[in-house]
Amino acid sequence: MLSIEAVSYNYGKKQALDGVSFHVPEGRFGVLLGPNGAGKSTLYGLLTQLLPVQSGNLSIAGHQVAGGNLAALRDLGIVFQSQTLDLDLTVVQNLRYFCNLRGIGATEAAQRIDRQLGTLGLEERRNDKVRALNGGHRRRLEIARALLHEPKVLLLDEPTVGLDIPTRRQIVDDVHAQAAEHGATVLWATHLIDEVKAGDWVTVLHQGEVRAQGEIMALLDEHDADDITELFDRLTDRKPQAPLKGVRRGDAA
Ligand code: ADP
Ligand code: MG
Repeated sequence: MLSIEAVSYNYGKKQALDGVSFHVPEGRFGVLLGPNGAGKSTLYGLLTQLLPVQSGNLSIAGHQVAGGNLAALRDLGIVFQSQTLDLDLTVVQNLRYFCNLRGIGATEAAQRIDRQLGTLGLEERRNDKVRALNGGHRRRLEIARALLHEPKVLLLDEPTVGLDIPTRRQIVDDVHAQAAEHGATVLWATHLIDEVKAGDWVTVLHQGEVRAQGEIMALLDEHDADDITELFDRLTDRKPQAPLKGVRRGDAA
């Protein structure tokens, strides 16, 4: 569904990605796990055609990612690392505007907006200006917006950065539930290991290289790691540290 093959990318002399290959199977919740500077956002830049493909192949829902190939963008929902909402429009106006851009008619748009606001708990804020929302609600709004056109593939780049732990947990859970309901394939980028849940399809990226990929429990087994902290420390050459709590071997999916 989402496939990346031998992708390298340089910013001038700085190599950000070095022969990156991985995929996310259809309908799976993929986590792109890597510390700051690993190359996650660069990969998102390539997938969304904001950066030109220099070498290798990327494909989304069977469409080759290449300059100007709109088919590869049509099936994509995206939440970027930096916020991209209009602060002076209301919640509903932000969503309606996006529906217009995507060519979704007024009646259908109203239904989808109501459904999304309900699912993400934003119903009561519908007529508030975005400026008045807290960080968690703004992120929820961006997630709602990314799902309005019912994309086959949903990309999120560090969507919980700056949020407190309970809010992060809630958003991680909500997006898992939404993705399952829509049958969407997800790629969720993060440097926070506690955002990985049992059953997720994990790709570990470090210094522009893929260090491991697979279902998280299989990865723990394969690398003989007791938990994801140990796995991540080992694969990213990080000194063992006081861990955030994450999935453990034997957790139920
Ligand atoms: P991540 O999102 O995982 O933190 P990035 O993709 O943002 O990683 O960055 C990967 C590497 O590329 C980093 O070393 C970063 O400093 C470098 N980089 C990112 N953007 C640029 C740029 N516009 N010019 C030069 N180097 C960049
Ligand atoms: Mg980034």
